[in-house]
Amino acid sequence: MTDKFDVAVIGAGPAGYVCAIRAAQLGLKTVCIDKWVDDKGKAKLGGTCLNVGCIPSKALLDTSHKFHEAHRGFKAHGISLDNLDIDVPAMIKRKDKVIKQMNMGISGLFKANGVEAALGTAKVLAGKQIEITAEDGSVSVISAENIVIATGSVPIEIPPTPLDNDIIVDSTGALEFSEVPGRLGVIGAGVIGLELGSVWSRLGSKVTVLEAQESFLALADQQIAKESAKIFKKQKLDIRLSARVVGSEIKGNEVEVRYLDTAGEEKTETYDKLIVCVGRRPYTENLFAADAGINLDERGFVFVDDQCRTDVPGVFAIGDVVRGPMLAHKGSEEGVMVAELIAEKVAQVNYELIPSVIYTHPEVAWAGKTEEEVKASGEEYKVGTFPFAAIGRAVAASESDGMVKVIADKATDRVLGVHAVGPCAAELVQQGVIAMEFSASAEDLQLTMFGHPTFGEALHEAALAVDGHAIHMPNRKR
Ligand code: FAD
Ligand code: NAD
Repeated sequence: MTDKFDVAVIGAGPAGYVCAIRAAQLGLKTVCIDKWVDDKGKAKLGGTCLNVGCIPSKALLDTSHKFHEAHRGFKAHGISLDNLDIDVPAMIKRKDKVIKQMNMGISGLFKANGVEAALGTAKVLAGKQIEITAEDGSVSVISAENIVIATGSVPIEIPPTPLDNDIIVDSTGALEFSEVPGRLGVIGAGVIGLELGSVWSRLGSKVTVLEAQESFLALADQQIAKESAKIFKKQKLDIRLSARVVGSEIKGNEVEVRYLDTAGEEKTETYDKLIVCVGRRPYTENLFAADAGINLDERGFVFVDDQCRTDVPGVFAIGDVVRGPMLAHKGSEEGVMVAELIAEKVAQVNYELIPSVIYTHPEVAWAGKTEEEVKASGEEYKVGTFPFAAIGRAVAASESDGMVKVIADKATDRVLGVHAVGPCAAELVQQGVIAMEFSASAEDLQLTMFGHPTFGEALHEAALAVDGHAIHMPNRKR
């Protein structure tokens, strides 16, 4: 390997690999260093997202959704199936195949774009040098005009529930169960708790979710959060709010979990498996030599400005290791921005419009401001909501739970937020993101023609409802 680069990216997750590809496209000599290997010591490019995050969780969500539909949903369509069964090892094997295919995809993209891949653990030294320790313990040093730190995040562990990686697991362990647990406990009703709780619930686990906070999905628009809670309840996800876990004990093949309920009373529950998913923390272990000059903020994130510059000129940091939501697409956009800044182009990320999606069924998604945020800002606003129950396509598909909500500024009519729970919520909110990116007004959405019959008509009708003229439901008198 040559040892002098224009750009050295540490981490090949969705932030790092995207940055490396864009930098190489811009003609910069680029290396991307990652330490993730399979059991044969072969590189597994793609980071958390590809190896133990977005992609494997969605593979299991898709399999479990198909099983659940066949089990519960097909009957309404007149389709009967006998002796339906789930082969968990086969499901896990398919998930691993998906991961492998995507790992190879990134390797192929690196080759096609001329990104050099380096396997090993990187440490940032002073003077923009990087020490790389390979699997066999050999050490080399490279230097780069620009360094991009994209080392991501790892699950948070909490003292009451130390992992034994068999009965008490984190999100990674929950992607690998060899059979469907009879009783599954989940700590944290966040994104991972809801997604992985849904996977195993659909396959037959009795799932209990213990959430310390009083409110459900505190970051989402609360009208959508309430609607989602109703839907999850119908799906028999037992979500207990104000339930703070204070201890656990593994007894044979099960775990006893103690938590304080709303009244502060201690309760005990017993599960066959327990998933701890209480958030993630930035990963910077042994990453910086003492004199490297990189500063962390008070929560342990690498300190950066709006353009992902650290305190050391020429050193950037992106993705989960810096402030902001821990989302793959947020890191990727930062990666593109940083590559372009290094190539002396004008670039920025619009942090106001990062879409959030929870891939339950139905999906929960949002972008822009929630009604609570708009209200708190003192801005005068208008709201339109529309239920999927009044959308022909949704009823035809037996997918009529949920709604779309559009929030617009009262004076300017500019769309401020789009929120949804329901079929294709992620795609509908993405349409809202495009509209908001172009500063669309509610009227712009009203005047846009939507195909019929589509789920998207719910977005159209919600935009019409903003001004009280939805067609397919009675409008509220104003
Ligand atoms: P990571 O993906 O964590 O990658 C960091 C990389 O850096 C790793 O490959 C690691 O090996 C490498 N590395 C670390 N330190 C070093 C070092 N010193 N030397 C060399 N290499 C190093 N987000 C979404 O947007 N949508 C989803 O649907 C979604 N689902 C998720 C489901 C689960 C179960 C989990 C756990 C996460 C999910 N996320 C999702 C979050 C998403 O995975 C992260 O936001 C994303 O992976 C962060 O990207 P990153 O590139 O910053 O870091
Ligand atoms: P999260 O922050 O979404 O949720 C963690 C939940 O655990 C919170 O609601 C918190 O109140 C609760 N909690 C914390 N301590 C607790 C305790 N002692 N007892 C009970 N509850 C407790 O975190 P996560 O679900 O672990 O996900 C981690 C990150 O991964 C998130 O930032 C998320 O953005 C990302 N992710 C995204 C997706 C997606 O975009 N679809 C999917 C999975 C993960």
